[in-house]
Amino acid sequence: MTLHPITLSPRLGRWLQLLPGLIAALFTLAFASWLLLTTDADQKQRSNQLEQDLLWQKQAIQQQITANTDAINALAVTDYNKQSALFQARAFSLIQNSPEIVSLVVRNQDDFKIWWSAPQQKVRPFNGESGWSTLPAKHDQPPLAQYAVSSADGHNFIIATFSFERLLQQQVPWWIAQRYQVLLLNHNYVTLAAKSSRQLDPSGLSTRIALDTPPLGLSIQAELYHVPRHRLTESLPWVLLFLAIGMLASTALLHRVMRVRSQAEMQLRAETALRQAMEDSLVSGMRAMDKDGRLIYVNRAFCEMTGFSADELLGQQPPLPYWPPEELERCQAAFDAIRLGRADPNGQAVRFMRKNGERFDVSLHGSSLIDGAGRHIGWMGSLYDITELKREREVLQASHQRFVTVLDGLDTAVAVSDADSGELLMSNRQFDRSFNLPDWRGRCCIVPFSARRFDTPIDSEWYDPIKKRWFQIKSRHNLWVDDSDVWLEVATDITALKSAAERERLQNEKLQQTSRLISMGEMASSLAHELNQPLGAIASYASGCRNILANPQPNLQQLSQAIEKMGEQARRAGQIIRGIREFVQRRAPHRRRCTITGLLDTVLDLQSHEAVRRGVEISISESGDLPPLYVDPIMLEQVLFNLIRNAMEAMNDTPASQRTLAIMLSREHDYLQVIIADRGTGISSEQMEQLFKPFYTTKDTGMGMGLNICRSIIEYHQGRLWAENNPGGGCRFIFTVPFSEETQANEP
Ligand code: ADP
Repeated sequence: MTLHPITLSPRLGRWLQLLPGLIAALFTLAFASWLLLTTDADQKQRSNQLEQDLLWQKQAIQQQITANTDAINALAVTDYNKQSALFQARAFSLIQNSPEIVSLVVRNQDDFKIWWSAPQQKVRPFNGESGWSTLPAKHDQPPLAQYAVSSADGHNFIIATFSFERLLQQQVPWWIAQRYQVLLLNHNYVTLAAKSSRQLDPSGLSTRIALDTPPLGLSIQAELYHVPRHRLTESLPWVLLFLAIGMLASTALLHRVMRVRSQAEMQLRAETALRQAMEDSLVSGMRAMDKDGRLIYVNRAFCEMTGFSADELLGQQPPLPYWPPEELERCQAAFDAIRLGRADPNGQAVRFMRKNGERFDVSLHGSSLIDGAGRHIGWMGSLYDITELKREREVLQASHQRFVTVLDGLDTAVAVSDADSGELLMSNRQFDRSFNLPDWRGRCCIVPFSARRFDTPIDSEWYDPIKKRWFQIKSRHNLWVDDSDVWLEVATDITALKSAAERERLQNEKLQQTSRLISMGEMASSLAHELNQPLGAIASYASGCRNILANPQPNLQQLSQAIEKMGEQARRAGQIIRGIREFVQRRAPHRRRCTITGLLDTVLDLQSHEAVRRGVEISISESGDLPPLYVDPIMLEQVLFNLIRNAMEAMNDTPASQRTLAIMLSREHDYLQVIIADRGTGISSEQMEQLFKPFYTTKDTGMGMGLNICRSIIEYHQGRLWAENNPGGGCRFIFTVPFSEETQANEP
């Protein structure tokens, strides 16, 4: 049976919650009011009663006093002779009937002598005035009242002494004495007599009333005695009040408990709703089975996944409707594995069937279902649809396979290693083959690579001394798939390339030497001229010296100048010869600091004769500051020599007036730029392509090696050499060389 909660509007619900507390409060209030009112009415009633009783008492006492006064007055008009039987009879009757009269005395009016008294007792003083008077209390006697009256004959006084005590004893009846303490008070409200027996009422209820005895000024006061009631009667109202308060407190407590409970209930409801929402929003299917393997719970995702409704699934037992007929055995095995607690914690892949017959793959996770009391009540299973995942994995797998195939097909070795530990994360087949890596991966440190990591290698060559092979290694710092730092390294075996380059280098070197030798041959004639010049000068200076010495008085100053000039010319000749020797020597480049103008001077010295011979006008222009160079001067001189010589040769057919050769030196950033411009034949576009190739020449006696060697030399110095046509005719050869210092010059 399903219990449906009663739904009330929140407002009504709140009021209903407050109702018991409200009723309890009203009850307590009503009861307390009743108790107060009852107590008050009781008090009033007792007070009224007291007043009535006291009035009655007043009447009684007053009547007695009046009666006594009347009796004494009557006695005064009687024949009071002591022998008078009537007087005595009346007197004794009075004393007997009024015990409050303690004595009756007859005194002579003149001398106040007592001549009759009854009963015999102590004589009280008399002031000689008729009427009422009081005798104050003395140590041996209580306060008394006297009433004196003159006898009818006017010779005597009849004096009666009254005891207040006795008056009260006589006149207060038992039913008043039982209820009240009765006091007789004088005009100052001092107690003259009291009739008291018990404890007074704590309420202090009392009433006082004056007696009509003007000369005495008496008043009577009554105060209520405490009337002990039955304990239960007395405490019952308070017990009831206590119970009512207790009820109120317990109702408040109950209300509080109910509020906490309702809060907890709301929280529980919210949690249940949240849990339901969470279950419904889960993309993984959830199902629970009892111990008999019967489905007792399925979530929304499970129903959507299988296509069956919850009603169709709940209560079902294996074989379950979503088990494909061809997979019954495997499904049963997975089911049993969960039941026996042997399910793979990482889930087991199973194929299920939707209601429409479509198959789908799931990853099934199972665990025991334990209730709140810790009892094992069944099994819980969750399943994820992995059909798409599986497909994606297959696609990925295929893609990976393609990637690996391509990588392994490369001739280049590729590897990825952890930037910190050097652990090899991935490598292709060529890599493993090249570096003889064992099959296992892991903490494998590739020595040459890891050594390079410290100086962030980008592109370098590495020689494997064991295999005697050269590798071009390119390293890139990269982020790996897990965002860790890795080195991606690509190693290409360049041994073959390297040996070809080496061969080419050797060939070039030989060619350069040949070129130098050829150049030397070519230069031989101009050198002869060059050497002729200083040698001729030396010869003419020598004959000049001889002429001076032949003079009987030789001019020694002229002689010394001539000898100095001879020395200069000899040094120049020596310099030319030394230059030639260095030029033809096969030697390693030898860099040193030098200026372009210095180099140019040397070359132009060598070429000046040729220039004059060809009628070529050479001009040099400089722009900007030109710092010194750090180069091999011989090599640079050779470049300048070749370019200038080619320029002069190209102007063979140029009209003599236009044979100009302009040398322009300028600074382009960190480079020196040298332009050698002529007005010669110029260079056609076909020629332009061939120009720097070895053995390209258009000259009958040319070798075609000059420009090739020049470019090698310039590139060796990290510069560039190229040619372009002049807009106005002829062409220009341009080369650049960096202004590097000794420390910066980088020997390749
Ligand atoms: P060679 O001078 O022995 O021919 P080079 O390598 O110095 O060898 O020059 C190759 C060719 O380039 C020359 O034969 C010539 O045709 C061309 N050439 C060089 N310099 C100039 C120039 N200034 N003007 C026109 N052609 C030139």
